[in-house]
Amino acid sequence: MVMQQFEREGLAYFRFESCPAGDGGHAVLTRQGGVSSGPFASLNLSVSVADEPANVLANRARAYGVLGRTAAEVVGAHLVHGAEVVRVRVADHGTIPGRADGLITDEPGCGLTMNFADCAPILLYDPQQRAIGLGHAGWQGAVRDLPGALVRAMQAAFGSDPAGLWAGVGPCIGACCYEVGEPVVGAVREAFGVTRPGDLLIPNNGPRPHFDLPEANRRSLQRAGVRHIELSGLCTACRTDLFFSHRAEKGRTGRFGVLLTL
Ligand SMILES: [Zn+2]
Repeated sequence: MVMQQFEREGLAYFRFESCPAGDGGHAVLTRQGGVSSGPFASLNLSVSVADEPANVLANRARAYGVLGRTAAEVVGAHLVHGAEVVRVRVADHGTIPGRADGLITDEPGCGLTMNFADCAPILLYDPQQRAIGLGHAGWQGAVRDLPGALVRAMQAAFGSDPAGLWAGVGPCIGACCYEVGEPVVGAVREAFGVTRPGDLLIPNNGPRPHFDLPEANRRSLQRAGVRHIELSGLCTACRTDLFFSHRAEKGRTGRFGVLLTL
């Protein structure tokens, strides 16, 4: 297994075993261990869904507590399925610095977080320049090359060498469950130069193929020069016991969090 599961006070979370950020450095939270109910059961971290705000705040305290932090000690992002990347600092803790699907920092102590329900979490760690990046890429982020934008932002801001980066693509909807039609099919073909069936767009029994989102993100990272890339192997739509899935739960669901700290 690429990811290892942990538990702390009823709260289940995962870590990439190979992540050089170390034990305290990152956590992929699940939906388990929170106080929300119904479609948001139980560790929903998003106030953009119809969950009780008081429950979300209680969930955030629990979730960020896994790495010994409070909600005032992490930087979040207003996700818009784009390729904007923002550099943040400890001074940004407790805020959401504008619309962006990528956050980067090289400030020791800085914590990054984003919420997910099928889109792919992209985690980057630079052990040489001591810097991190966190991204959010669904099909739109993949075709707009958010993963590549994240790598290039770290190159420009911190002098990161892509070949020296560690990258992890967290739990997201897998090719097993992600049936797509237009405009996804056309956009994927164009962005990735797909010419043969089975390449990122997997033939299905019906007329609509399945999109391999984790593989697309891996390819974007590779194209940007990253060599060490780990895929989680976990499909959010297959594992609604562990994760929220926008697709599998027909939009009525919560968001799980990913935390990355320096
Ligand atoms: Zn699946």
